[in-house]
Amino acid sequence: MAKQTCAVCGAEINLVQQQKLADGNYVCRKTCVKLAMKGFDFVGGTLPELQTHIRQVEEGTAIYNKLFLKRSPKPKRFGNVFVAEDIGLMARIETRCKIFIFGKSISACVYRIADLYGYEYEQDSKVTYDPNSKTGSTQKAHYCHYFFWDTPGVSDFCEKIPGASSHAKIEKYFNKLFGIQKTIGNIGNTWKNQLAAAKAAGSALKSVIKGGENTEDKAEEARQAIDRAQYGDRTEWKAKADAALREFGQV
Ligand SMILES: [Zn+2]
Repeated sequence: MAKQTCAVCGAEINLVQQQKLADGNYVCRKTCVKLAMKGFDFVGGTLPELQTHIRQVEEGTAIYNKLFLKRSPKPKRFGNVFVAEDIGLMARIETRCKIFIFGKSISACVYRIADLYGYEYEQDSKVTYDPNSKTGSTQKAHYCHYFFWDTPGVSDFCEKIPGASSHAKIEKYFNKLFGIQKTIGNIGNTWKNQLAAAKAAGSALKSVIKGGENTEDKAEEARQAIDRAQYGDRTEWKAKADAALREFGQV
């Protein structure tokens, strides 16, 4: 196989150094693959997706260094995930052994707390065989799977956690933040939000039936009320993140 050119930095890359993307572009493993955080899907990802993610890491690292490090009050920490409630932002960090790209050993993606809509428990198990004792053993790994709305770049990722009980803590924390009361095994709602959603949906329906004005506004109101019932009210979190990012110069 011939040499390829890295689509990100333009370097000539030999076979061992080549990482192929889904759209047929090549990226060099030496430098540019490392610009992405762990878990970026190179096999399924395209060059524009990688470039968006690289910008996300560049920006995220800068925001993390300025707004998260040395912050008081200290951001809440769940493994590699930090939540700074007072600025409405959260960060996922990755610590690198080598200091070489941003002059820091930590890279980060920063997300708006308001955009977080999933923090689910996941697990997988791996069976390993020990040739000495001739026995197999099962290792379970536990994760919290975070999902974000409206987020360019990597918008969902899994973070390793020690066990199911640490996920319960994470879930409880975010549910409280969003004012969500979960019922057993299902997304539950506070009565207030449920009631508001029912009302808004009702008035949107009436407006449609009557052929009245503002039908679209009413429908939008209803959609938002239903969102709030399921995911909690995010208005406050949006405002906090907007203010912090405006100050940082990103908005
Ligand atoms: Zn490169």
